Amino acid sequence: MFSKANINKFQELDTPFYYYDMGVLRETLDACRDASVKHGFHVHYAMKANFNPRVLDMIQSFGFGADCVSGNEVRAAIEHGFDKGKVVFAGVGKSDREINYALDADIFCFNVESVQELEVINELAAAKGKKANVAIRINPNVDAHTHHFITTGLDENKFGINIWQLPDVATALRKCASLQFLGIHFHIGSQITDLEVYKSLCTRINEMQDWFEDHGFPVKVLNTGGGLGVDYYSPDTNIADFENYFQVFKNFLNVKPGQEVHFELGRALVAQSASLISRVLYVKNGKKKNFLVLDAGMTELIRPMLYQAYHQIENISKSQESRIKNQDNSSPATANMQLATDIKYDVVGPICESTDCFQKDVDLPESFRGDLIAVRTAGAYGEVMASGYNLRDRVGSIYSE
Ligand SMILES: *Cc1c(COP(=O)(O)O)cnc(C)c1O
Repeated sequence: MFSKANINKFQELDTPFYYYDMGVLRETLDACRDASVKHGFHVHYAMKANFNPRVLDMIQSFGFGADCVSGNEVRAAIEHGFDKGKVVFAGVGKSDREINYALDADIFCFNVESVQELEVINELAAAKGKKANVAIRINPNVDAHTHHFITTGLDENKFGINIWQLPDVATALRKCASLQFLGIHFHIGSQITDLEVYKSLCTRINEMQDWFEDHGFPVKVLNTGGGLGVDYYSPDTNIADFENYFQVFKNFLNVKPGQEVHFELGRALVAQSASLISRVLYVKNGKKKNFLVLDAGMTELIRPMLYQAYHQIENISKSQESRIKNQDNSSPATANMQLATDIKYDVVGPICESTDCFQKDVDLPESFRGDLIAVRTAGAYGEVMASGYNLRDRVGSIYSE
């Protein structure tokens, strides 16, 4: 929900841009910190979800660590003041250059995704006379019950080391003198809304840590990854359910004395803090379809086109007018959504690809050239995936404070 002052401000600006509500971001970070510290859990922010500098600065100020998936993310984390002792580095294809950079930066831990990678890190660390901390990313074959494009923990996925390869891991760890085994790491997918999935993950983590201990490798760190989902259907009300999420791990993870439990949350920390604001360029009324052609497309927000993701779409120019008309209505937001005059539009972007469509058959009040359209809950995997395809301008961002 945008205030009248916000909408007036947007009207004066060039579109498209990301609008960051720093208050929502702060509230979300607060909720996550409160829910995690009471269990003594360590949270690393998964930087790939959003590395906007203002967002990073605020997250860093809460004391979270950073979960990185490239050498440049490791660099950005350190430049933004994240404690290098709280930086973890995952990724199925770390290059030698990236590994060397992270070794020089003395990060907390490499989350290693293959036996070959273990050997490479060992070699590069040895050449520097260093010992690299490693955790083994295990593919637990746990179904995340999320979209198949964002599932990462099944046998058919490229991520992590399969359970049947663990004897080879043990052999490699025994012979790699420049590696220090810290623990085990998991990340089974994203936008997980069914907390039962995390119970299954806990069961698997408990088995795996026993396996390592039985083979002579004390497990200090249990890193459960991230993936906690958000409610894309209620952009104004719900922040992620951190309380119940952490409670599942408290109840079902077998944490031994001296062990640390780590999490890597991306989406849940940032998704609700931003919207993509754009304008209607053209309205095309056809026989079968009405199209709203926006000045934003897959070059600004690719999630709908890449993973069939849902984002709520609002005509905020119109919602402002109807709000004024419906001032006495107790629930103007829902009233707006269901106006009898709503028309179904395919909301599309300007990019020369047929998949450049945010959503088909969206019910919106009759819309006109120049109306402002908000694509909500766009703070995660939005701005960071912007591209220059069609030689588009880089999307801008503005902040509530
Ligand atoms: C992307 C990623 C995360 C964060 O996932 P979210 O769904 O955004 O919480 C955590 N860990 C690893 C290894 C990742 O690649």
